[in-house]
Amino acid sequence: MSSPRHPQRPAAHELERYAGLFASRTRAMKSSAMRDLMAITERPEVISLAGGLPDTSTFPAESFAAIMAKVAVDNCAAALQYGPTEGLLIAKDAIRRVMAAEGTEVDPEDILVTTGGQQVIDLVCKTLIDPGDVIVAEAPTYPGAIPAFCSYQADVVQIEMDADGMPIDVLEETLDSLEREGRRPKFIYTIPNFQNPGGVTMSLPRRKRLVEVAAEREILVLEDNPYGLLRYEGEPLPTLMSLAGGEYIIYLGTFSKILSAGLRLGWAVAPAPVLAKMNMGKQGADLCSSSLTQHFVAQYFAEGRWEPYLQSLRQLYRGRRDTLLGALAEHFPAEATWTQPQGGLFVWATLPEYLDTTDLLARALQRNVAFVPGRGAYLDGRGAASMRLNFSGVSDAEIREGVRRIGEVIGEQVELFGTLTGSRPAAAAPAAPAPDAELADVLQLPRTPRPGAQRSDGRR
Ligand code: PMP
Repeated sequence: MSSPRHPQRPAAHELERYAGLFASRTRAMKSSAMRDLMAITERPEVISLAGGLPDTSTFPAESFAAIMAKVAVDNCAAALQYGPTEGLLIAKDAIRRVMAAEGTEVDPEDILVTTGGQQVIDLVCKTLIDPGDVIVAEAPTYPGAIPAFCSYQADVVQIEMDADGMPIDVLEETLDSLEREGRRPKFIYTIPNFQNPGGVTMSLPRRKRLVEVAAEREILVLEDNPYGLLRYEGEPLPTLMSLAGGEYIIYLGTFSKILSAGLRLGWAVAPAPVLAKMNMGKQGADLCSSSLTQHFVAQYFAEGRWEPYLQSLRQLYRGRRDTLLGALAEHFPAEATWTQPQGGLFVWATLPEYLDTTDLLARALQRNVAFVPGRGAYLDGRGAASMRLNFSGVSDAEIREGVRRIGEVIGEQVELFGTLTGSRPAAAAPAAPAPDAELADVLQLPRTPRPGAQRSDGRR
């Protein structure tokens, strides 16, 4: 049985009964804030700006039916069968075309088809990480990567981004200081395009320097790129993989955001020795990814529909992004700041320092609106004043209403703070009003930020 407030969280007495059987690594396991929220935000009355959901309602049901019918007629037995672990050639051909659209040529031999891009993150950790090994990631980072990093007991060092993504000079300083401690990170994790959750894009000079740094220091880079083709303005930038000619880069791609997340199909491209180990890791995880959805993708690409559909998504999401940015300007306080993404699905907003978005979320949920609190994108308790807002999975009207409600909650908290402290506080004001313990327990996120701390183990 699980606790009534958190359906998937076991009660303490149940944990005790089984705890002696658990592997020690389970002590480091963490749930992603985003996943925890999904259960709550499934309630139809909740406007969720928390998810990272593509709007699958835009995919024509007739096309879906026609593709499935064609797969049934032409490839019924194969679609219902196991496939090779590395993936079907027909799916790899679609992947090759997607990567070519981003200016990156790839040999089908170098591709591993995976069960979502998420599996790539897991397999990379499975292949490279021993307990205590260092991963360098951006701050904030993709909340969904955190459960994988924690399961493999990685020590994650997060580097604060600016408007051009991860500053590579800071990365180099961090690598130097780790080297002085005799530690070499196993990989650098980056989402260069329209970062999740930050919404920022790594500049070309930084991309070039990152690729050089990786080669000079012989450190792998995991280039996580679900959003590169969802650009709404500006010039596309080359992938790290194309800049590096593949050296020291593991590339993660996915069909989730350009076609469907329900297909659960992604891929990795990596140097051959790394790919071979990831393949073995995948054999243990799931033998192979779904043959049925690989056939679906192959048929969809054969019909030449993917580019027009992608174009329609760009148009839709561009409009929703603009709606969100407009609503933020209208309803958020003057002290708040937020990113202006040129693509992707997310805006990262930062409130005055005395506000804690984990507490705000509890209050927002009472008004049936949700977002991802910033702490969910850090491993060390930072991010308390920030939030991730999604604009792809909700209508313009819901975006406006959702932001209005969040703005109202923020306004009340700002006022409460002003009343308690006797003045409208400056951005650097010290302590926030004590959170209501009951409300603050919506998500199990670390409660005590350690200013300046960088590592998940608390060392600086
Ligand atoms: N990486 C990033 C940065 C993401 O945003 C996501 C999905 N939200 C993934 C990986 C995994 O996506 P999927 O497993 O659906 O391909």
